[in-house]
Amino acid sequence: MATDYYAVLGVRRDASQDEIKKAFRRLARELHPDVNPDPKTQERFKEINAAYEVLSDPQKKQVYDLGGDPLSQAGGGAGGFGAGGFGNFSDIMDAFFGTASQRGPRSRTRRGQDAMIRIEVELDEAAFGTTKDIQVDTAVVCNTCNGEGAAPGTSAQTCDMCRGRGEVSQVTRSFLGQVMTSRPCPQCQGFGTVVPTPCPECAGDGRIRSRRTLTVKIPAGVDNGTRIQLAGEGEVGPGGGPAGDLYVEIHELPHPTFQRRGDDLHCTVTIPMTAAALGTKVPLETLDGMEEVDIRPGTQSGQSIPLHGRGVTHLRGGGRGDLIVHVEVTTPTKLDPEQERLLRELAKMRGEERPQGQFQPGQQGLFSRLKDAFNGR
Ligand SMILES: [Zn+2]
Ligand SMILES: [Zn+2]
Repeated sequence: MATDYYAVLGVRRDASQDEIKKAFRRLARELHPDVNPDPKTQERFKEINAAYEVLSDPQKKQVYDLGGDPLSQAGGGAGGFGAGGFGNFSDIMDAFFGTASQRGPRSRTRRGQDAMIRIEVELDEAAFGTTKDIQVDTAVVCNTCNGEGAAPGTSAQTCDMCRGRGEVSQVTRSFLGQVMTSRPCPQCQGFGTVVPTPCPECAGDGRIRSRRTLTVKIPAGVDNGTRIQLAGEGEVGPGGGPAGDLYVEIHELPHPTFQRRGDDLHCTVTIPMTAAALGTKVPLETLDGMEEVDIRPGTQSGQSIPLHGRGVTHLRGGGRGDLIVHVEVTTPTKLDPEQERLLRELAKMRGEERPQGQFQPGQQGLFSRLKDAFNGR
């Protein structure tokens, strides 16, 4: 004996077409593979489709009611629910997206939106972390009505136009037969309830805008564009619905000396030719205070000197990047006669009066050496 299609849809044998359709839609929503991919559920979904295919078609229903199985005549089993036989596809679509008659009244309460605020931080604040007080301007729950939207002492009432269903239906006759259309109730905008006396504070919205101060902990290692998520600190939703999240986006201010690349800091120090040749120590105000950069004798222009662990804290996993000092050697331009005499004498002593120079292909100047240093070559 074939499957009991009435039992599959959970309807009586004398159920009307409307009841059959409603039962099918309810089950289809519940059991659709997109909603519920469990194999057992998919099996059930095939069953209800087969049942509906038979019971919604007067001819097939008649065959079935007389004890036959219209589906096995049509080519076996729950066939028909294949690529070809998706005859009730539009009913499935209806079940999901369709007519408002399948939805209840919509809720007045909805989750609020996320909010975002940008804050500016100095390099050292980004490097070591800090806390900042920020002013946020968001919707908060209205205290006067506690989010209900009704004036104190009053309350929302069931809409008498739709009797709380949130929609109104209309039956029209067309050449296709009777067509029932539903639309959101114009009196309650689909909420199913009306607020006769809206709260004077929030005009019935259940929320008001408010400015407040939040203290935000900024972890060490944040960078330009880093977003800190503060759960539930965003906008309260309509009807006093749960608040969205607040995102605090970091905007790092430029530093007068250091340029940040990842967690490393870079700067360039310019020293005279003589200092590069003889070596020297130059003071540098790092993020950790005054330090001396040790320029060894014979330092070349474009050479870089790393100060390990003087960069920005790694956001994850601790430790710090480096501070890299790039050296640029300047050549004296205005020599007085005595200086020129000394330099010529030096050149003579070093046999450099007529240097041959060393030629290499490409560009090996300061710029390309800096570039190589940045690329870690
Ligand atoms: Zn209010
Ligand atoms: Zn209504």
